[in-house]
Amino acid sequence: MAKRRPLHAVRPLGRLGSHVNRDGKAKNSYRTQAEARDAAQLAWTLHRAELSAYRCDLCHQWHIGGRGRDD
Ligand SMILES: [Zn+2]
Repeated sequence: MAKRRPLHAVRPLGRLGSHVNRDGKAKNSYRTQAEARDAAQLAWTLHRAELSAYRCDLCHQWHIGGRGRDD
């Protein structure tokens, strides 16, 4: 007897690791981790925003994002 498993829709990308920001727009992308980390460093300097760089599965470039807030 087969159990029916609910098919989950694709989860909205709304947390760290997403390709888009909260407005649903594509984030800035960086070709290298170093570039993304530079940008994260700048965000910290300017806004005290704690962002981390991560590689995106969607566009295979780098984005930055943080907990709680997003750029
Ligand atoms: Zn991306």
